[in-house]
Amino acid sequence: MIGERLQRARKAAGLGLRALAEQSDLSHTTISKFENELQTPSSGQLLKLAKILGVRTEYFFRPQSLNIKGIEYRKKSSLPQKSLDKIQADIFDQAERWHELLNLYPQSPVQDFALPAALPEQITDAEQLEALAEQLRDAWKLGLSCIPDMIDTLESQGVMVISSLVEAAHKFDGLAATINDLPVVVVGANWTGDRQRFTLAHELGHLLLKNRLTNDLQAEEEKLCNRFAGAFLLPKPTLIEHLGQHRHQLEINELYFLKHEFGLSMQGVLFRALQCEIITQTTFQQLYKLFSLKGWRSKEPKQPYPAEQTILFKQLVYRALAEDYFTESKAAELLGLPVATFHQQRILESFEPLTH
Ligand SMILES: [Zn+2]
Repeated sequence: MIGERLQRARKAAGLGLRALAEQSDLSHTTISKFENELQTPSSGQLLKLAKILGVRTEYFFRPQSLNIKGIEYRKKSSLPQKSLDKIQADIFDQAERWHELLNLYPQSPVQDFALPAALPEQITDAEQLEALAEQLRDAWKLGLSCIPDMIDTLESQGVMVISSLVEAAHKFDGLAATINDLPVVVVGANWTGDRQRFTLAHELGHLLLKNRLTNDLQAEEEKLCNRFAGAFLLPKPTLIEHLGQHRHQLEINELYFLKHEFGLSMQGVLFRALQCEIITQTTFQQLYKLFSLKGWRSKEPKQPYPAEQTILFKQLVYRALAEDYFTESKAAELLGLPVATFHQQRILESFEPLTH
């Protein structure tokens, strides 16, 4: 068990065998032996390795009860292998914490992911996605207005959302995986909120469209997921309510305001206006050209939409603590904090000063 952990932590730290060997005064063959469970590190060696790798020693001993299957990268990414390793290690680590936390609850506080039963069995054209998005919103009681928090929405439906630092310089369009058959979606912690939300809605699209696409539509899955994502974040009736049924032209500021109201990028809103036949292809092209010309396709003008936070995990740690499911030291371990730091935060965050 230590071996696997060690390797994961090393990859998470972005270190090769030799680099770690150099920093730890051990030979790379020794470290390799540790990783392959051919040799067990002494506690002193473990302490040293933990320090270099930025993990606490408990990390090496966290009980492994999670059967993690391979992570499926849905899309080729331009991220270097080293960065992918780092993200993957982060996924394993966060997934394990989740799993452990949920297991400490007498009854899981999060429901298993399940789609509403009444969804159409087959999707035969893109237009159907409009109704599908509305149907899902209806089943999840989201109404037709803005979804204030996409991470929370998915998490409360049993999708594990992992936010990991992803270097902005590389193309990385989110990643979906299954761990113990449960869906996991990864978003960049440092992305803008609209990008995170679109990625989440897009991956939700994959979950929804799985086994529902006719043969001739299967090659279009990526495009269809984008269409679903747009429709889910900004449903057709809502967009028409805001923009009107047919328009000759749109002001850039309209796109900007709608972006901030619905957490969908300005380009996303523009695409929605075309998909909902509010504007013609010609008007769309005109505006789209303007986006390219101004460099707005890579960075949209004015204020970005704020990034979302994953709070459910933290909240559930505190909830379990309040219910005495575990002690403060377990809570600290789950949150990856030293006990003293956690204790301090707990006091600061409580409404009444604690007496001890
Ligand atoms: Zn996709």
